[in-house]
Amino acid sequence: MSAPPEGAEKKIAFDAEAGTLLMKELRGTFSSGKTRSYGWRVSQLNALCELIDDREQHIVDALTSDLSKPPLETVAYEIAMLKNSCKVALKELKHWMTSEKVKTSITTFPSSAEIVSEPLGVVLVISAWNYPFLLSLDPVIGAIAAGNAVVLKPSEISPATSSLLAKLVGEYMDNSAIRVVEGAVDETSALLQQKWDKILYTGNGRVARIVMAAASKHLTPVVLELGGKNPVVVDSNINLKVASRRLIAGKWCCNNGQACISPDYILTTKDYAPKLVDALKSELEIFFGKNPLESKDLSRIVNSSHYARLTKLLDDDKVSGKIVYGGEKDESKLRIAPTLLLDVPRDSLMMTEEIFGPLLPIITVDKLEESFDVINSAPKPLAAYVFTNNKALKEQFVRTVSAGGLVINDTALHLAVHTLPFGGVGESGVGAYHGKFSFDAFSHKKAVLYRGFVGDASIRYPPYTDTKMRL
Ligand code: NAD
Repeated sequence: MSAPPEGAEKKIAFDAEAGTLLMKELRGTFSSGKTRSYGWRVSQLNALCELIDDREQHIVDALTSDLSKPPLETVAYEIAMLKNSCKVALKELKHWMTSEKVKTSITTFPSSAEIVSEPLGVVLVISAWNYPFLLSLDPVIGAIAAGNAVVLKPSEISPATSSLLAKLVGEYMDNSAIRVVEGAVDETSALLQQKWDKILYTGNGRVARIVMAAASKHLTPVVLELGGKNPVVVDSNINLKVASRRLIAGKWCCNNGQACISPDYILTTKDYAPKLVDALKSELEIFFGKNPLESKDLSRIVNSSHYARLTKLLDDDKVSGKIVYGGEKDESKLRIAPTLLLDVPRDSLMMTEEIFGPLLPIITVDKLEESFDVINSAPKPLAAYVFTNNKALKEQFVRTVSAGGLVINDTALHLAVHTLPFGGVGESGVGAYHGKFSFDAFSHKKAVLYRGFVGDASIRYPPYTDTKMRL
């Protein structure tokens, strides 16, 4: 959004009054029971599948406009993942909705019990700009599958996708229960004044605190999908070519490093670092050519403020002379080349802030086991990776590293496994979604105990006699 001219009244497209009206309408729909039925949920999931199928080219074009995202990345990581989420939800929905019979205890004998999943009500999804289509609609799939009414607030930083989402949801979905509100801070603040039954927010930790504070006023539960500094531990007993390609895939082939699960820094031994740097350099050149600023296979930096943020990390005196590959940039095109840095000080800006871009520092240690202390002395990341053939090291990694998710001998791929929960821990987030975890995130698990009128044990009724005490 461009700034209004000086003296002009700032125009808010969606204010508190509009929020109240919208909430009233959606509450009315939810109260009518419409969104609870299996048939409605299936119809809306099918409509979403249809939307994605019909408008694939529009989605690719919007992401080209917002990020110069390579079409293959859009198709593979946004469109195909969403289609899969829709298909999984449609295939599993009956099963997810079926109540779960559970055992009871001797105290309640005779009785039976079950856990009933019920929709929460009217929920809000606030999404981020880097995977703007996936991060908007994937949570919406969970909200619909669980039988809720839902409002989606896409990121204003990816405006083409935001307006496409508003248009397509308007055309394809049941707007009495599913709506998009576009806007930036003012509009999101207006939405946050309402009493939601759940908020799923994707973005940075600073805004997550604003969201959580607003939610706490209404005791609204939240899922916070945040980021962090994702470490990669690289051992020396590996297939270096395969490891380098997989590292590059997770870093630069995911939106040029602007992904929450991108490798943020590498930890390896002093001896092995030069070999790793050489392997990365040669694979990077195969992937993106000798002039990566011209490569069509790399996204650009999303906007000038993120470009300035990344430039600041590179211009920090503490990292001067540490670049071993790349470093080229072009402000007019918002492009920064894949950049490797060696032995970056741990107190530099690059090692204390989430990078979220194409810069990859390598930290060296004397012994690989020291990596665990480096990782565990920092806030818990969203993802952590290790490349090794050493069984003991793998086990130690899984046992001692706390992160939202781990991948052994690859990067980022856990995101594509719908049977795994996707979410952070500590500073990297609260709660999780994907597959059944999305359904659960937007459901209340209602405990139901059934009793008849026989077996009315008298021990719980006064008078509390000595005989009852002895039982
Ligand atoms: P962003 O700027 O798009 O902000 C996210 C949302 O917050 C937007 O919808 C925006 O309108 C809203 N917002 C911004 N300021 C606000 C305010 N003051 N009050 C209320 N709402 C406000 O995205 P971002 O934060 O730059 O996203 C990048 C961060 O998100 C990184 O830290 C990244 O790691 C993380 N991320 C996490 C995931 C995940 O799934 N865990 C996915 C993508 C990004």
